[in-house]
Amino acid sequence: MREKMKAKRFFDIWLLLAGFCIALVVIIGLWYVLSEKLPENVGRELTGEELNEVIAANSPLIEYAYLSSNADFPRKNKIDRITIHHMAGITSLEKIGDLFAQRDRQASANYAIDINGKVGCYVEEKNRAWTSSNGENDNRAVTIEVSNDKIGDDWHVSEASICALVELCADICRRNNIEKLEFTGDTNGNLTIHSMFSDKTECPGPYLKSRLPDIAEAVNRKLSE
Ligand SMILES: [Zn+2]
Repeated sequence: MREKMKAKRFFDIWLLLAGFCIALVVIIGLWYVLSEKLPENVGRELTGEELNEVIAANSPLIEYAYLSSNADFPRKNKIDRITIHHMAGITSLEKIGDLFAQRDRQASANYAIDINGKVGCYVEEKNRAWTSSNGENDNRAVTIEVSNDKIGDDWHVSEASICALVELCADICRRNNIEKLEFTGDTNGNLTIHSMFSDKTECPGPYLKSRLPDIAEAVNRKLSE
């Protein structure tokens, strides 16, 4: 009898081990399949031809692109809003590309605008960027990071960046059939900001926040032209 119990216990341990091994294989397999799902053009320098493809599929205003793997491919929802951020720093398009390329940062944006008004693309519009601490918003929004031209105080932004932001927003609206951009100061409008979704951030800073009603108005003027 004791021998039988011993044999059963031995069998149970092997069964447990076999179960563990199968689970491990399934997890590794899933991880492999999911990591294989990353598009081929993320996390590396693009060729000139690939850059042209990114420009053609997104905004013609793009002058630089370095696609980040920090994104969901593809986004879940149709684009019906735009979300504005500031960089909390004076950051070049290349530098922000380096930051978004870091996997452990878990951050990205669809676009960034530098101090001179140049536009960079990091997550194509068809994909969801990790920008606003809110998946529901980012699945619907095109997110834009704007460089500051002064550090601290009201986190000022250059007029060249504001002009580029208006152009980029108008272009996004046209291509995604958004008829009007509305800044209501809350999430009811389709022009949203990071601090609406997280009380841990003041992003996009007092200066850019104060300009949002004007920015929406300027975009709408362009859309009605
Ligand atoms: Zn932000």
